[in-house]
Parts: sequence; C-alpha cells; structure tokens
Amino acid sequence: MLPESLGGLAAIAGLLGLCIGSFLNVVIHRLPKMMEQEWQAQCAELRGEATSTAAEPLSLAKPRSRCPNCGHQISAIENIPLISYLLILKGKCSGCQARISPRYPIIEAFTGLASAYVAWHFGPTIQAAGALLLVWALIALAAIDLDTQLLPDAITLPLLWLGLAQNLWGSYTDLSSAVTGAMLGYLALWSVFWLFKLATGKEGMGYGDFKLLAALGAWLGWQMLPAIILLSSVVGAIVGITLIVATRHGRNVPIPFGPYLAAAGGIALFWGEPITRTYLGMIG
Ligand SMILES: [Zn+2]
Repeated sequence: MLPESLGGLAAIAGLLGLCIGSFLNVVIHRLPKMMEQEWQAQCAELRGEATSTAAEPLSLAKPRSRCPNCGHQISAIENIPLISYLLILKGKCSGCQARISPRYPIIEAFTGLASAYVAWHFGPTIQAAGALLLVWALIALAAIDLDTQLLPDAITLPLLWLGLAQNLWGSYTDLSSAVTGAMLGYLALWSVFWLFKLATGKEGMGYGDFKLLAALGAWLGWQMLPAIILLSSVVGAIVGITLIVATRHGRNVPIPFGPYLAAAGGIALFWGEPITRTYLGMIG
C-alpha cells in the first residue's frame, strides 16, 4: 500500500479514535457506577427488600452527561472531542466555571493517536479492525482500574472470547496458541496470587488481573505471555517505587496492576515479536 493512502487511513482512524475516546470517558465514568447499582440491587433482593427502582437506572446511553458540580447538561457543541475542551470550554464548565479534569481530553487524544497508529501499523486489514477493539478495551480497563481498582467482567470476558474468535482464522496467532494462551494467562497470575497469599497472608492482586491476562493470551498467544508479564512487572516496579519514594505512598496501599498489564498488552500487540526474539536471544 502507498504511504500516502496509509497516512489517510491513519488520519481517518485517528478521527474515529477521538470520538471513541469521548465514548470511553463515559464508559470509564459510568460502568463502575452501574456495577455498584447492580450490586446494591442484588443485596437488597437478598435481604428480601422490595427492589425500589426509584431513580432511572444508569446506563451508558442515559441520562445525558452533566457537569458533576452544577448539573449543567452538556450540549452537543460542548461534546466535540478535544475541540470543545480546548477551544470552546477552555477547560471550564460553561454553567458554573468549575474546572473540567484534563483527563477527558487526554483520554480522547490518546485514543485518537493509538487508533491512528493501529491503522498505520496493520494497514487496511481484519487485524487492524480487531486491534482497534483491543486497544479501546485496554484504555477503558486501565482507567477504570486506576479509579476503582476494578477490572469489570463486562469488558474482560467479552475481550477474551473476541480474542479466541479472531484467532479462529489466525488473525494474530494460531487457534491452539490462543486457547493455551487464555488458559496459561489465567493460571500464571492465579498461581502468583496464591503463592503470595500463602507467603504473606495478603491478597496482592485481583481476579480481574487473571482475566485480563487470559484475554491477552487469547489475543496474542501463549508465546507473548512472558514478555507481557516481564514488561508489566518492570514498568509496575519502576512506577511503584517512584510513587513510594516521591509521595511516601504507603507500601500497603494497593497499586492496581491492571494499567501495567494493559500497557504491556498494547506493547506486545505491536512489538511483541521483536521483543520476544530479543530476550530469547539474550537467554541463548
Ligand atoms: Zn458546572
């Protein structure tokens, strides 16, 4: 494919990514709240209380986004990815002038750039379409885990099945590597979890981490698992130690592992093969 048309494809994917990033902000904000509503409803049901659906249950589509400070409803013109924040609102709510977190435009911009890179890297292929879904899911998971220390099953489990389905026709790896990858991915962190728990009596990570690594194994094959674990541990250790030193972040305050796994998964998607070849070469 000609570089110019590849550039055009990347630009289209980038614009699509900006809009998806805007949607991911909604997912990141609302999905944990939806899960909490559901748990409360289940608890109420178990206690035998009448399930009062007083307010309209939250969903990704309803109600429309509002300023958390003053309740001002976000209009269409205030909802254009990146542009609204930078040019129209200039980082402030038009109703009450409260500062809007720069995280919203950062997620939009990052999703746009990552989507453009997917298109550039894979070209107009079925792999590119799948990789976009994977990258979008990883961004949402990383941000939700940072906020709430949760990796919702509503994302990790479909991601696992989608990875297996993609590899029915060998999009990223052969089917047997994908199935083995899903199993070993789950078991690897499950074993670490139990060894750590037996040794220290503490729980070092959540079940969501196992499911996320299982999903990455399903997408990329078991061969990528060592590189993903290595990358996420190295990055996690560097960030963790920096946090402990810089902010005197108590060592017992849990630091979510999901964002590192997600980042390592993204790196492995694009550069997993050269990385694996390099460290296998170093081992001998
Ligand atoms: Zn406001």
